[in-house]
Amino acid sequence: MASVISVLGSTGSIGTQTLDVARMHGLKVTALTANSNIELLEKQAREFQPKMVAVLDMGAAAQLKVALSDTNIDVFCGEEGIIKAAEEKNCDTVVNAIVGVAGLLPTLAAIKAGKNLALANKETLVAGGKLVMKAVNSYGVKLYPVDSEHSAVFQCLQGCPKGSLKKIILTASGGSFFGKKREDLENVSVKQALSHPNWEMGAKITIDSATMMNKGLEVIEASWLFDCKDKDIDVLIHRESIIHSMIQLKDNAVIAQLGVPDMRIPIQYALTYPKRLPSPVKELDLSDLGSMSFYRPDYETFSCLAVCRDALRRGGLYPTVANAANESAVEMFLREQIRFLDIGDIVGEAVAGFTDNKDSFDLDDILAADRQTRIKVREKYGHNNY
Ligand code: NAD
Ligand code: MG
Repeated sequence: MASVISVLGSTGSIGTQTLDVARMHGLKVTALTANSNIELLEKQAREFQPKMVAVLDMGAAAQLKVALSDTNIDVFCGEEGIIKAAEEKNCDTVVNAIVGVAGLLPTLAAIKAGKNLALANKETLVAGGKLVMKAVNSYGVKLYPVDSEHSAVFQCLQGCPKGSLKKIILTASGGSFFGKKREDLENVSVKQALSHPNWEMGAKITIDSATMMNKGLEVIEASWLFDCKDKDIDVLIHRESIIHSMIQLKDNAVIAQLGVPDMRIPIQYALTYPKRLPSPVKELDLSDLGSMSFYRPDYETFSCLAVCRDALRRGGLYPTVANAANESAVEMFLREQIRFLDIGDIVGEAVAGFTDNKDSFDLDDILAADRQTRIKVREKYGHNNY
């Protein structure tokens, strides 16, 4: 079980819920980081009294330094500041709740500093899974999944002998546009895409849920966490988000993990593993729910899911490219520069048009593939204005 934690991305949806768990179980918090929301970061720092905080934005960091000048809390800035938080010497576990591939370097820094990881930042594994898993093994640290589906699989696997897993069944809510076809989605607004039926999350992952890119990223994430291939991972639409995922074993027994949709269960399990402690999450009442529904995913309308599976099968740097194209596209969609359906097209084009794949690659190759993909996408679509 973790006792002293650093929370990267503490002001976001996962970050604030992590601090709820820390508060409830008296975990010590030694570092907090944010992109630019210094009002909330200051409040968190005053409550948890970490040794340090870091803010990506230099100007915001300078303001926070002034605001916290009556405390002993050190304030750092930029990417180096965030990496410092990942390496903070007092902490045993780093919670990575940063959004996007910006979480990759802090993840690697934490592992190299010998920290266990509670990983929400799935883009880290999508873009750099090979390097991250290699580093986890060579530094002998633990990697606990926070993503609810992967936590569910991890929970289901407890007590199953090695080699008994046949298949992973990742559940998906279907997002804001379940049941819609391409023609229904031509003119959907940012606001419509941001309204998720079951989960309150950051903007990027909510759009990823609407396009089902999120499930595609999660298939790739699962392949690294549980050492399996695309063909061993099924996706099942389950509208109610009560079954968080399932595993099928060699004898065809299926084990599922259920609970009300509340991220504090997977966050807490990643921090208290292997203990099961009381939680503020409501009890699940299945008789109240009455029934649950299941459907096959629509790979044509939600093409991002198909493209991610294709990128996983191709391997190498393809998943990095799919992720980078999606990050750029989602940013542009949120700024209303492109339409909703463009996101899937952009991710598809990026993967189909990528010609610099390598089977053997290092961190620089990943960062270069990420950067070049973003440049290409911005060059083609960045001047649009709908
Ligand atoms: P969010 O947007 O609410 O929060 C992101 C946090 O990261 C904020 O603290 C922000 O200040 C910080 N941040 C943003 N950009 C940064 C950068 N470039 N460098 C450093 N810090 C930066 O996002 P979220 O919904 O909490 O999601 C965080 C991660 O967890 C994502 O990878 C997401 O896919 C994953 N996740 C989230 C949920 C959820 O319920 N929110 C569930 C499963 C997985
Ligand atoms: Mg998830």
